[in-house]
Amino acid sequence: MTAHIIDGIALSKQLRADVALRAAALRARGVVPGLAVILVGENPASQVYVRNKVKACEDSGLHSVLERYPATLSEAELLARVDALNRDPAIHGILVQLPLPAHIDAHKVIEAISPAKDVDGFHVASAGALMVGQPGFWPCTPYGCMKMFESIGYDLKGKHAVVIGRSNIVGKPMALMLLQKNATVTICHSGTPNLKAMTLQADVVVAAVGKRNVLTADMVKPGAVVIDVGMNRNDEGKLCGDVDFDGVKEVAGWITPVPGGVGPMTITMLLVNTLEAAEMTPTVARSA
Ligand code: NAP
Repeated sequence: MTAHIIDGIALSKQLRADVALRAAALRARGVVPGLAVILVGENPASQVYVRNKVKACEDSGLHSVLERYPATLSEAELLARVDALNRDPAIHGILVQLPLPAHIDAHKVIEAISPAKDVDGFHVASAGALMVGQPGFWPCTPYGCMKMFESIGYDLKGKHAVVIGRSNIVGKPMALMLLQKNATVTICHSGTPNLKAMTLQADVVVAAVGKRNVLTADMVKPGAVVIDVGMNRNDEGKLCGDVDFDGVKEVAGWITPVPGGVGPMTITMLLVNTLEAAEMTPTVARSA
């Protein structure tokens, strides 16, 4: 058996085309959806991520502002910038690229972002809203995974989903989203004694660990849906996920590749959240 591939690039294209249409409709009403991206320091991976985010905005008709600061920027200066962006009517979404330099408290900075502009979905108000099933911005990576299930018409109700990883930005929100769709959810982490015993029972596995080959073919139930969030480098320096793709694709029913899977979906959902933030501004919402 060879698994069907869930193509994150093709799905992203569809979703971004819809974003572009809705952004054009907003523009026609005098509102240009705007995202501000703040980058502090010279982290090479962060530089690539923010460039990709800014380019994706431009390609979809969203306005974006990239603010770059040296690693010496103080926490107070950064908080002042976030405060100014909170009050800027041209900006609907604010993203502070993580990690931040060690002298800046990332939690404090994220909490300073207005929940109405928290398009990364990392604010505790967004996390709380997801927890209690209220409207709010969902973190982009797990939100993108949910769109992938939707794209293949997969009904999560009653399915056993195993999420490997419990970070605040991927694992935990992923588990809550799956729960909201009535899956039975197990969260595994570095303290899980027998990961294989868990994953072998799973109809759905989401791997969000950051280690190669965390999930191999012998750990997967035939026909399972396998979503690979991991981003790692193999021995040749090529991008790869947490899943042994070549082995697992012979057992799984559906699988996401790396690259070309969850990665593009993450940026796409950032565009979706930014667009929705613009659509929810009082002037637009009132006239809708
Ligand atoms: P993280 O904060 O480092 O969390 C990793 C999680 O994996 C932790 O909960 C950890 O458990 C768990 N873990 C570590 N070793 C394990 C093992 N052997 N078995 C089971 N669980 C184990 O990472 P993250 O931010 O969630 O990101 C996870 C991966 O996704 C990374 O590769 C990251 O680059 C990637 N990522 C990709 C995208 C994308 O757009 N494609 C977006 C975000 C993240 P403990 O909690 O016990 O330490």
